[in-house]
Amino acid sequence: MTTRLEDNFRPGDRKNLAKRGVHSVTDLLRFFPRRYLVPGERTELGDLPLGETAIIQAEVIRVETRRMKQRKGTITEVIVHDGKQSMKIAFFNQYWLEKSLKPGLTVVFGGKVESFRGQLTLASPVWLNRTEDDHEWTPEDLNSPFPIYPAVKKIAQSRLWSSIKTLLTVAGPEEFEDPLPKGLRDAHELPDLRTALEDMHRPRKIEDVERARLRWKWEEALALQAEFAARKAKLADEKATPLLTQGTKSRRFDEDLPFTLTASQIRVGEEIAEDMAADRPMHRLLHGDVGSGKTLVALRAMLTAVDSGAQAAMLAPTEVLATQHFHSIQTFLDEQMALSPLLADDDQVTVALMTGSMPAKDRRELALDLVAGNIDIVVGTHALLSESTLFSDLGLIVVDEQHRFGVEQREALRAKGGETTPHTLVMSATPIPRTVAMTVFADLDISTLDEMPAGPKDIATHVVPIVDQPAWYVRVRELMRQTVEAEKGVFVVFPRIEPTDIEDPESGDVVGQKQGIEDITRKLSETPELAGLKFGLLHGRMSTAEKDRVLADFVKGDIEILVSTTVIEVGVDVARATMMVIIEAENFGVAQLHQLRGRVGRDGSSALCFLLTEMSAEDESYGRLQAVAETLDGFALAEYDLDARGEGDVLSGSQWGGSSLRHLSILRDSEMVAEAKTIAEQIVAVDPTLEAVPALKAFIRRVLPEDDAHFIEAG
Ligand code: ADP
Ligand code: MG
Repeated sequence: MTTRLEDNFRPGDRKNLAKRGVHSVTDLLRFFPRRYLVPGERTELGDLPLGETAIIQAEVIRVETRRMKQRKGTITEVIVHDGKQSMKIAFFNQYWLEKSLKPGLTVVFGGKVESFRGQLTLASPVWLNRTEDDHEWTPEDLNSPFPIYPAVKKIAQSRLWSSIKTLLTVAGPEEFEDPLPKGLRDAHELPDLRTALEDMHRPRKIEDVERARLRWKWEEALALQAEFAARKAKLADEKATPLLTQGTKSRRFDEDLPFTLTASQIRVGEEIAEDMAADRPMHRLLHGDVGSGKTLVALRAMLTAVDSGAQAAMLAPTEVLATQHFHSIQTFLDEQMALSPLLADDDQVTVALMTGSMPAKDRRELALDLVAGNIDIVVGTHALLSESTLFSDLGLIVVDEQHRFGVEQREALRAKGGETTPHTLVMSATPIPRTVAMTVFADLDISTLDEMPAGPKDIATHVVPIVDQPAWYVRVRELMRQTVEAEKGVFVVFPRIEPTDIEDPESGDVVGQKQGIEDITRKLSETPELAGLKFGLLHGRMSTAEKDRVLADFVKGDIEILVSTTVIEVGVDVARATMMVIIEAENFGVAQLHQLRGRVGRDGSSALCFLLTEMSAEDESYGRLQAVAETLDGFALAEYDLDARGEGDVLSGSQWGGSSLRHLSILRDSEMVAEAKTIAEQIVAVDPTLEAVPALKAFIRRVLPEDDAHFIEAG
């Protein structure tokens, strides 16, 4: 075995290795056993401990495969002899073993000792062909944990194991350069890289493996935090224009607010104001549950910018949202500012909306106004990012719904600041557990709104299994009717627009159809409970004008039941809507369901939400629905989600998709993550580009490949 994968595995094998993520010697060294067999003390065939795990070494005497009489399939019997005794080991449906377990070979078998017809045997053991190995297995070897690797197609465990073992001896020193600083290793009694690799592939005791595993976590924690710290350091070099608080506009706005700010809003407001007053750009994430009052916080920050003579831009992911933000900002400002009889022209705040669907002429005019500085606040969609949109003095960017905007898009907007970099406030309507925020958004400062202005919400949520309990569905429709009769609005949420084919997963044949949004609307409107009610339809394929009209009709009550896709997910605000029915609820994630139901009961009145599903209580996704029904606490749900779905899944929805964290658990290793952060900041403080720690730098690129790493940038 040399130190190149190419010299040791044929192309076919390399392809199968690649499927397991092994592309290089470094990868192979880090291809760790899936589990270990931990043997008991005794290894002699005549003296095996019944019921325990044993590892034995013996010579293959005879191998025989035959069809079984009682059941379908084959049995392969292997007779082995350890010099003193013999034993018969049976394998089921592995007739190909005859080719590998040839008489004369010395093989190590590991498995549980069982008694079969009065004789001891190993039950379908794992085995390694010891003959390929270059050293004699000592009793100590046989008493060591026995590695079992993840299956790689067409490559026997024996081969994997002996290749890795050889590599551990012959690989060049570069394979063992340690990404973890010695000081850190010493402080936590972590093995160095070479020792840890040996501990994984040929441990002497199972504690060796555990000690090594701790080390792999530390590597990932440090790599992440070092990357974040390095990025933060880079950002710190950028210059921003300080935007100082409390001009007349902010003050008037605050004085005339029809309600008092929550303590949370005040605290977060101060955090933001402090950042904006600095000559380095703010880089802050604002998160909080639906309805916690983020928009207001953002608006106050924008007024601070305007007071300082700068412009503010708010980027929203959809036209519906941009339009809604625009209207609510306008309403807020009109109501507040208009109250003052002393309002001079200078104290007006001009707000504009820019979307992709506005007529080209209007857009050109707006662009001119922006560059001339006639507009103070602009709300818009991606249209704001186009090259033709220029600002006279962009001081603050608010990004609504962070994960729908890529880094390039945000960078495009930041670049519009001219000489200086605008301050950036990123808003997330998905509450983020503290531990996750610290890891996933480690390069951002974080502000949390953890209070609800209107007090806790009152949305009674119920899961309705429509197959098991069809009568409940009827009851839901009756409640829909009653809600309409009480002059309230009902949202129906549906997961898709068009009907889609249901394919048989085996054959690929079309075996049925899932209905589209028009079918479901028609069906609902034809039920006896809902007949005669006024239905409306809202989805992403409609034009902005159509969507606006439908929403306006729903607000007025001209539409009583609005059937919609998730375009209503974020921010859409219809005070009179007090009931939501989510169809095929199992198609939505926990966070999304929580977001969706946040659309009802906006005015503080009690609301109803029904999660309809064809699943039964035994199904896994039913548990998720139940969790949503049981609490209104977005933070609790976020933690539940992280725990239940596994972190990989949760992270892939964030800008973390693509990172290859394999050992670190954000939820369980939060203390390590926090400590790694401190250490990383110390390293970066003296060595911002990590030149002095090349092994760490290389490892960062391993777990955060460059093209994925940009997702993380800027949160
Ligand atoms: P979010 O964007 O966090 O979901 P919003 O900013 O849309 O929440 O606020 C939800 C509602 O609460 C809005 O109607 C807003 O005007 C109102 N609101 C915001 N702050 C307060 C407050 N301190 N007291 C009362 N109502 C508030
Ligand atoms: Mg909002």
